[in-house]
Amino acid sequence: MTASTFRRRILVSIGLAVALPTMVLAGLGILLAMRISQAIDSQSARYHLYMAQQVTESFEQELLAHLRESITRAENASRAGAQGPALAATLEPRPPEFETAHLATLDELSDYFMLVVESQPLVYGFDRDRHPGQSYAGLMLRDSKGQVIGAGGWWFRPGRFLVDHLRTVMEDRLPSQERIYGGIESIRNVSVLLLGPDGREMGRVRSPGGMRNAAIEPLTGPFEGFAVRVTSTPFAPDAWTRGFVITEVTFIGLMGLAVLAATWFGLRYTAHQIELARIKSSFVSNVSHELKTPISLIRLAVETLEMRRFASPEEGEKFLRRISRETQRLNQLVDNILDFARLEAGQRTFRFAPVDVLEMIHETVDSFRLRLEDQGFALEVDLPDELPPVRGDAHALSQCVLNLLDNAMKYSRGCKEVRVSARAVDARVAISVSDRGIGISPHDQRRIFEKFVRLETGLVHDVKGAGLGLSLVDQIVRAHGGHVEVSSVPGEGSTFTLVLPAGGEAQSRQIEPTAQTGS
Ligand code: ADP
Repeated sequence: MTASTFRRRILVSIGLAVALPTMVLAGLGILLAMRISQAIDSQSARYHLYMAQQVTESFEQELLAHLRESITRAENASRAGAQGPALAATLEPRPPEFETAHLATLDELSDYFMLVVESQPLVYGFDRDRHPGQSYAGLMLRDSKGQVIGAGGWWFRPGRFLVDHLRTVMEDRLPSQERIYGGIESIRNVSVLLLGPDGREMGRVRSPGGMRNAAIEPLTGPFEGFAVRVTSTPFAPDAWTRGFVITEVTFIGLMGLAVLAATWFGLRYTAHQIELARIKSSFVSNVSHELKTPISLIRLAVETLEMRRFASPEEGEKFLRRISRETQRLNQLVDNILDFARLEAGQRTFRFAPVDVLEMIHETVDSFRLRLEDQGFALEVDLPDELPPVRGDAHALSQCVLNLLDNAMKYSRGCKEVRVSARAVDARVAISVSDRGIGISPHDQRRIFEKFVRLETGLVHDVKGAGLGLSLVDQIVRAHGGHVEVSSVPGEGSTFTLVLPAGGEAQSRQIEPTAQTGS
């Protein structure tokens, strides 16, 4: 298992250790909230049905109470022996709820129905021809011997009675069972609608908060055809529990998402820190190697020259060239490290002055030519006759071109061709260094400008370097108000272009350290 696979596995394990329980707990929380809401819903449905039955029964009781109150005179007269029209006359004057008094004889009673309300028979009936839209309601009348001699009662309009007595029924008859179901439901939280035979609303007590869990109960007896619909008001516990559950589920969901997002960012940060630690440790070993190699070569060449262990003056010349080349390489590396340290500390100062770009490129290329030729590179320099000057630090700009040339040389394989060109474009000067080397994948093209970053694929692995060159180039060019462009095709080569504003108004200034590796 490679170190990076191991790292990845550790991070995935940590991620799962946090994310999985979070998701499970959030899921359980949501499930629990929904179960509670469902339980309250089903309790409400049962309560509404119960209430609907209570309301219908209460109407019958209300009617019975009215009849009882009004029929006492007739009952007394019957017990005293009154019969026929004399008895019928005692039913007048009629109570205001009723319309026509009627004394039903024993024979007639077969045309009526009977309903037992509070253990008392309530006689009722309909006569669509003579009393359209009306119901008959009466109570049994007995004579002095206790024999039933008929029923005394009145024709009345059931719809009107229901509408008139809806509020009384709700307020006087039902509060005795105000709190049931452990106080969750209460009569104050139900809305009752009275529905006519055509299904239309005739009256209501409190507005409904929606038609969920609505219970419809038909009325019977003299109120046949009518119905009551009972449902929750907007302030009923089941209504606000539903709102509460929705808020709760949203809240738990958002909390779960926040934890997942925090885990994600935490893991990214940890991964980044681990990567940074790895990069830094490999940086130390890379720099040691980069320093040691030229020093060893220089020492070897100096010893050879000291002991005159060379066959001809040309061979001696070769060793001198090697010393010069390796010193230059060493110098460039030390420059890079020092500059990097200054940039990190915010102490890198640039001295801006008009820079003759053509002259700067020529001098840089000349100082590098020896290294290129020794490695067998063909160098093509393609420069125009004239270029506008750039305001900048000539030494820093030359260091940029040197770093690009060094990379072009390092990351070329068999095709040893390097090209340096420059051109003026729209008040800007573009300096390009191209090679026909290993190239860089589009994904890596963004990363290579971060400090310490070295690509770990392909040939790059064999090439030594400190991972500072491009980071420095990028920072220096940005301090000049420009930017670096890269175009590259893996396996075909790369072109790095420094784009600098021509003329410019840059002045001597320091630049702040950047935290590039963070991206
Ligand atoms: P170093 O060369 O010391 O590794 P740099 O910052 O100069 O550091 O470059 C960063 C990485 O970018 C290199 O390790 C290499 O992988 C890649 N790179 C830079 N220049 C080239 C190039 N011309 N061709 C291909 N890869 C390059």
